Amino acid sequence: MQILCLDLEGVLVPEIWIAFAEKTGVKALRRTTRDEPDYDVLMRYRLDVLDEHGFTLAQIQEVIATLEPLPGALAFVEQAREWGQFVVLSDTFTQFAGPLMKQLGHPTLLCHELEVEPNGKISDYRLRASDHKTKTVRALQGLNYEVIAAGDSYNDLGMLDAADHAILFRPPESLVTERPDIPVVIEHEELLTKIKAIAP
Ligand SMILES: [Mg+2]
Repeated sequence: MQILCLDLEGVLVPEIWIAFAEKTGVKALRRTTRDEPDYDVLMRYRLDVLDEHGFTLAQIQEVIATLEPLPGALAFVEQAREWGQFVVLSDTFTQFAGPLMKQLGHPTLLCHELEVEPNGKISDYRLRASDHKTKTVRALQGLNYEVIAAGDSYNDLGMLDAADHAILFRPPESLVTERPDIPVVIEHEELLTKIKAIAP
C-alpha cells in the first residue's frame, strides 16, 4: 500500500515568509534558511521583526489569505486525492498555512505550531518534532506503507532519502547538480504522471 508525502512551500504554495515580506514591504523577513542555516536563530529573528512592526497573528493571516496556491496545485491536490492517500509535510506553522490550506480544500497537513498570546501577539513557536518530515516517512514505513515523497529543496532531503521513491519538484539548480540520483519534475501534471508510474 502506497502513500504520498508532499512538501508544501514551493510545491503547492509559494514560500510564505517571502510572499509575506513582498506583500508588506518588510524586507527583513526575506531572510531564509539559506541566509541563516540555524532555524531557531532565524525564527527568533522573524518573531522579533514581526513584533517590531506590531503584527498580530490576525493581520498576518489576512495577508496570507491574499496569497494563492501555485498555478496547477489545486487540480493536483484533487487528482492526488483520487489517486490515493497523501499527507502534506511542512516546516511552516498551522496558523500560517491555514488560509492557503483552505484554498486547497484542506488536505491533511502535519507541521509546527505558533504560540499566540490573547492579544494576538505571536510569542513563541513549537516544533512538532525535529526533522519531522523524515520521522513521519519512517513511521509510515513502520506501518507497512511504501512511501513516495516529493519536495523542492534541501529541507526535504531527509524525507526524500528515507522514502521508497523520491521526486524533486522544481528544485534549485544546485540541488539538481548535487543529487543527480533523484528524478526531477517541473509541472504538477508531470508529478502526477510520475506518481502514477510508480503506483497506478
Ligand atoms: Mg519547500
